[in-house]
Amino acid sequence: MVDAKHTMREPAKFVADEMNGDLARWLRILGYDCVYFSNGDEADERIMELAMKQGRILLTSDSTLYKKSLRAGVEAAFTRGVTRHARLAQLMKTGYIDTDLKRRLRRCTTCNALLTETERESVSALADQRVETADDRIWVCNQCGKVYWTGSHWKGITRTLQQAAQLAGL
Ligand SMILES: [Zn+2]
Repeated sequence: MVDAKHTMREPAKFVADEMNGDLARWLRILGYDCVYFSNGDEADERIMELAMKQGRILLTSDSTLYKKSLRAGVEAAFTRGVTRHARLAQLMKTGYIDTDLKRRLRRCTTCNALLTETERESVSALADQRVETADDRIWVCNQCGKVYWTGSHWKGITRTLQQAAQLAGL
């Protein structure tokens, strides 16, 4: 059964534990707000607190943390899949993420901040570079300044998401 509650309202927000860094990056590619939480002292308590306070779904591959989260009333997903495709498929199946593969770039894959579309000429880092863009649009991260465009790498991204959707039976 597909639980579609998150696709009906605001897009879901996530916090990924240290085993899910790759998944966090892919959620950001899809435009989802996903904080990556690397380990530290009392990491379990702190990641659960963050999820609770900010209404984030906790993504973990640690069954102990998963069970602890549910007991504490924190919404959590136990990421079982070994591959990136399997993990994405799992979140698609549960309805946490939708399968719209035509989303525009919205969020920085490095720091999770929002991107702003900008003029190519205003990005000094691109001035001396020949950058092949699919549609001549450029985005820049509001926080770290990383520059994005949909070039040839975008095909690979689209393929991965299509394969994940297939795996999810969508
Ligand atoms: Zn950034």
